[in-house]
Amino acid sequence: MGKDRSPHVLVFPIPLQGHINSMIKLAELLALAGFRLTFLNSDLNHNRLLKFTNFATHFARYPGFEFKTITDGLPLDHPRSGNWFMEMYEQVIETKMKQNLREMLLNISPPVDCIIGDGFLGFSIDVAKELGIPIICFRTSSPHGFWAYYSIPDIIQAGELPIKGSEDMDRLITTVPGMETYLRCRDLPSFCRAPDMEDPIIKLVVKETRRSTQADALILNTTEELDGPILSQICTKCPTVYAIGPINAQLNTRLKAEHREPHDHFSNTLWEEDESCISWLDKQPNRSVIYVSFGSITSMSREKLVELWYGLINSKAKFLLVVRPNFVTGDEGEDDVVCELLEKTKDRGYTVHWAPQEAVLNHPAVGGFLTHSGWNSTLESIVAGVPMICWPYFADQQVNSRAVSEVWKIGLDMKDVCDRKTVEKMVNDVMVDQKEFSKSATELSQVTNRSVSVGGSSYNNLDRLVEDIRVMCL
Ligand code: UDP
Repeated sequence: MGKDRSPHVLVFPIPLQGHINSMIKLAELLALAGFRLTFLNSDLNHNRLLKFTNFATHFARYPGFEFKTITDGLPLDHPRSGNWFMEMYEQVIETKMKQNLREMLLNISPPVDCIIGDGFLGFSIDVAKELGIPIICFRTSSPHGFWAYYSIPDIIQAGELPIKGSEDMDRLITTVPGMETYLRCRDLPSFCRAPDMEDPIIKLVVKETRRSTQADALILNTTEELDGPILSQICTKCPTVYAIGPINAQLNTRLKAEHREPHDHFSNTLWEEDESCISWLDKQPNRSVIYVSFGSITSMSREKLVELWYGLINSKAKFLLVVRPNFVTGDEGEDDVVCELLEKTKDRGYTVHWAPQEAVLNHPAVGGFLTHSGWNSTLESIVAGVPMICWPYFADQQVNSRAVSEVWKIGLDMKDVCDRKTVEKMVNDVMVDQKEFSKSATELSQVTNRSVSVGGSSYNNLDRLVEDIRVMCL
């Protein structure tokens, strides 16, 4: 006999900004579909959201939407920088978090009918299976990244890894189906640059990626139009895949249909947004500003920041630069660098600690995005139709930037040559000689936005996901 209440879904991201962003949006989409939701966040990140955002009042509109917290296992005053992520994995994730999740699921009322777990928290699959709860994995990284991670053992087996030094970086990799024509050694996930394929991070990434395919289904933040060939490959390993992205655009469409405010008025970020940059952008001509941001985790040496700064100053564009707290590494610290930059760049640019990124990308003054190629940032730029200049750092960023330049042809990839001359040239290429990239970026934006409109592929896939969860929970 069926339950006479709406399905109760638990959404559980890993404690990182990019993951929280897309998973909280998915939770809201499911709340709009009438489900009861529990969003499980690390206690530290929950408190940061409370401090910096209006999320508590925002979600109060959904009856049955609850926030619960879980410890990430590290002390609250731990700086969570440097190698903290591996530290968290090695020391606590598989033990403490797993145990806490299990206890919570045993005690929660009404019981959870379906878990949507972060693809990097594979232990939640074990817990769900043990307790007989259906589980769907949400992989928040790009499908290109997911498929490259999945394929690492095959690349090693074929003798195409490890990479044999810097002269080997442009060799094509032939053992990742779907990417044979454009994936070079330098475009592989950053971990593949390790000289030793026994590196713990490689093992972890492969383990977590392969484990995701043991869930009942997989959710990916993309569209069939963007990633069709890669999605077909992923489906050979996990037959039920829902491509429902870009999730920010999907949420905006669904909110508009309900006559609610678009999502960019609700902030879900872990730092306080500096809205003053919007007033600064309001005073700039159309498409005259390059927005420069490296996401929530990447840090940069003082030396690299100076190269970036000279490249920007020497280019012909104005810029809006995000320098997050703790962004600059090294002994000299961040503050003196930032003060120096602010002082010298008053007439050419504007610097903030954290920007309202979606609003910035959709501002008419912004004509380009110099990005670290994190997947959320890439999708947000695609939706807004803004061409990219890619300066990738780690994980899926190397392969994302390759897709931007070679598959979608909506920007330039400066990977591995990020000096002031290259920055200057690429900024001018994208911002001054705008025609080529703005045309292709506008076209891709239109295709992508159509996919989340009524009848579009991502729109239909979300409806299918909602229906399948209902059936799972009967
Ligand atoms: N972001 C933001 N303001 C900033 C910089 C980043 O709101 O000043 C948001 C951005 O919109 C994106 C997320 O932070 O949704 C970063 O995620 P991404 O996957 O691009 O990179 P990660 O932080 O995971 O490396």
